[in-house]
Amino acid sequence: MSRPAKATVDLDALRHNYQLAQSLTPNAKALGVVKANAYGHGSVAAAKVLEPLAPALAVACIEEALELREAGIRKPIVLLEGPFESSEVITASEQDFWLMAGGKEQVEMIAKTTSLPKPVTCWLKADSGMHRLGLMGDELRNSYHTLKALPHVADEIVVSTHFAAADELDSDFTQQQIACFADMTEGLNAPTSLANSAGILAWPEAHGNFTRPGIMLYGSSPFPAPQAHADQLKAVMSLTSAVIGLRTIEAGETVGYGRSWIAQRRSVIATVAMGYGDGYPRQMPNGTPVFINGQRAPLAGRVSMDMLTVDVTDINNVMVGDIVELWGKNVSVNEVADAVGTISYELLTRMPLRTPRLYVNAY
Ligand SMILES: *Cc1c(COP(=O)(O)O)cnc(C)c1O
Repeated sequence: MSRPAKATVDLDALRHNYQLAQSLTPNAKALGVVKANAYGHGSVAAAKVLEPLAPALAVACIEEALELREAGIRKPIVLLEGPFESSEVITASEQDFWLMAGGKEQVEMIAKTTSLPKPVTCWLKADSGMHRLGLMGDELRNSYHTLKALPHVADEIVVSTHFAAADELDSDFTQQQIACFADMTEGLNAPTSLANSAGILAWPEAHGNFTRPGIMLYGSSPFPAPQAHADQLKAVMSLTSAVIGLRTIEAGETVGYGRSWIAQRRSVIATVAMGYGDGYPRQMPNGTPVFINGQRAPLAGRVSMDMLTVDVTDINNVMVGDIVELWGKNVSVNEVADAVGTISYELLTRMPLRTPRLYVNAY
């Protein structure tokens, strides 16, 4: 048997989550956001599931989009960070990539790159309060009219914005951004795109004409606390491995590098073939739950590159070969991320190449 560490990716759960995103926004079309290797799940496999369902896919940069084209994906692909050089405008026109223009420089680059095989589709980004990218104030309106007048830019220009705090349900900042965006786009009569996953799940006034779900497609809630619609999401990735060693140690003995875990009693320690080289963070604290034989057991000792150790004293009958879930359908990636002071986005997108992806429930 080969090394048991793997990330099982449930493609039917991905399909379910996309359909949930779409059903919550019946008047909008949901893009399939597959940037960062589909949040670690494998962008080609995810794109193959989403392509028949979504009007377009979305990635951060042209390298990610070209990888999908090479794999035979034909739907339009939005480049969320826009072009970095004018050759990318030409490639976008050839390949049916839609370019986000999030600043004056990108608008100028698109305006100047006139010899294209066919008109290029552009989205404009408005800065409604995130203050990261996007055109501010009158620049949005001016850029819209500039692009609109160009024969080498396709006629329909979607105007978009991005939320800074849509996951904070008791903050009114999202309402302020929605109002600011409405002001900035008044009279333009352009199709709009505002909502990421949190916008889709919690801010119905922000649904616009196109939504941009990312994390929710992968079954992870963007919210820190339970939320009605988010509870219907299904985890897509299960990070699992198996027990490869068992030993009993005496009270006072320690486990692992730096001896950070000290047995308070006679303890049974299970060693699992999973480490930070497989995407399970080294900073994970003692006590973080892992799932073995239908029960939760606490991490005990520092995570090493290829292994971690678990206190299974209170679990009956653990044996070498038993399957261990680090996150997935039993221990949510949100709970694990929270334990290590980060968010699911980071744990998922960091999943290294070494960890084999096993795709299940494709059809
Ligand atoms: C990544 C990204 C999204 C998806 O956000 P989630 O919070 O994962 O749903 C949407 N819009 C833009 C511009 C992005 O960069």
